Amino acid sequence: MKIIVLKFGGTSVGTVERIKKVAKIVTSYVKKKFKVIVVSSAMSGVTNDLINKSKKVSKEFSPAEYDVLVSCGEQMACALISGRLNHIGYKSRSWLGWQIPIITEGSYKSSRVSEIFKNKIMIYLKSGGIPVVTGFQGVNIENRVTTLERGGSDASAIMIAKFFNAVRCIIYTDVNGVYTTDPKLIKKAKKIEKISYEEMLEMSSLGAKVMQPASIQDARLNRINVEVKSSFNNRSGTLITKRKNIKNNKIISGISFTKNDSKITLVGIVDKPGIAASIFEPLSKNFINVDMVVQNISSNGKETDLTFTIKNENINKTEKLLKSNKKIKFKNILITKNVSKISIIGVGMITTPGVTYRMFKALAKKKINIQVISTSEIKISVLINKNLVNKAIKTLHQEFGLEK
Ligand code: ADP
Ligand code: ASP
Ligand code: MG
Repeated sequence: MKIIVLKFGGTSVGTVERIKKVAKIVTSYVKKKFKVIVVSSAMSGVTNDLINKSKKVSKEFSPAEYDVLVSCGEQMACALISGRLNHIGYKSRSWLGWQIPIITEGSYKSSRVSEIFKNKIMIYLKSGGIPVVTGFQGVNIENRVTTLERGGSDASAIMIAKFFNAVRCIIYTDVNGVYTTDPKLIKKAKKIEKISYEEMLEMSSLGAKVMQPASIQDARLNRINVEVKSSFNNRSGTLITKRKNIKNNKIISGISFTKNDSKITLVGIVDKPGIAASIFEPLSKNFINVDMVVQNISSNGKETDLTFTIKNENINKTEKLLKSNKKIKFKNILITKNVSKISIIGVGMITTPGVTYRMFKALAKKKINIQVISTSEIKISVLINKNLVNKAIKTLHQEFGLEK
């Protein structure tokens, strides 16, 4: 049996007209003798709307109820797709996560798929049916609904492809594939033919929304080839695959960025062992993600400055936690909203010296000041003023020959 998984994102199912188009895409694969499993996200805007409602009901909305609420959008989209497939003469039905079931582990809001029971769907496929499965949701061992973090339908599709041994997993979205940078922001961005799991993981973790980071971890662990393409046209997309399958002579594959970061500096903290742990422990207990961190060398051996970044939405809570933390002493706290992290990503930098220098020099030439730097084997990130994001991306895009 040639099973194929087709996942449709929010914009791809955003209107009734789009749903009709999705049904056509699905049947084109049925005609090619594939057994199709459809995975759908919610219609665009629906998940955000549900989240906003939960915030209006309570600032401390129960995470378990949050998952029940925000997973509703997928149910609606799947029923519409199945309904359309029935209308044009195909056997189809929707399946919610718990009906299969798709079992998840971990916390509400950010669960991961651990098991998928195949039986019912296999019988249905063999009978000629087209199952349309809700993305983003599953059920935990307490039999409660869970969700897989924002953008989690990507992970649903990839895990379904794994458990059903699918020959292909195609992620249909609103752009033609994975680009060197966000094509909606930078017109000169180029579509990438093939990208490694490692680079894609960095690209998405560092801000490229096109694939959910956790889903790429799932794909990489299970060696699932993932195709990303547009549901709006028939052009070829991007293949996310293992490094061995890729011949690439570019040093840098792509540029990612974030836009809603804030920088916090604690000035004059007493410098003693364990101080960083005392600062970050309460933040982690409150689920506040700390991203870039730099600690200055203490010039007098007693005091130092520590800078780190967090998401804008966590600013007030973080400030409160720092000011009420009895374990630390500091002279001043400086908060800068509206900073952005720009990252260049590429496995090529492992073997090419001087990439950091080229990045810094190119930015300096355009008078873009770097506030914080962090690096890993295959990425370099810098923190800059948010207003300079476009300029910085264009500069780096050109510097590393990405528009060619
Ligand atoms: P879907 O609803 O199909 O899951 P998303 O909105 O989650 O789609 O992701 C697609 C969007 O990701 C695109 O519209 C694009 O603006 C954005 N994006 C950001 N970085 C990139 C990139 N490097 N390549 C392609 N798209 C990107
Ligand atoms: N609908 C969910 C979200 O908006 C899941 C997804 O789009 O993949 O996050
Ligand atoms: Mg998405």
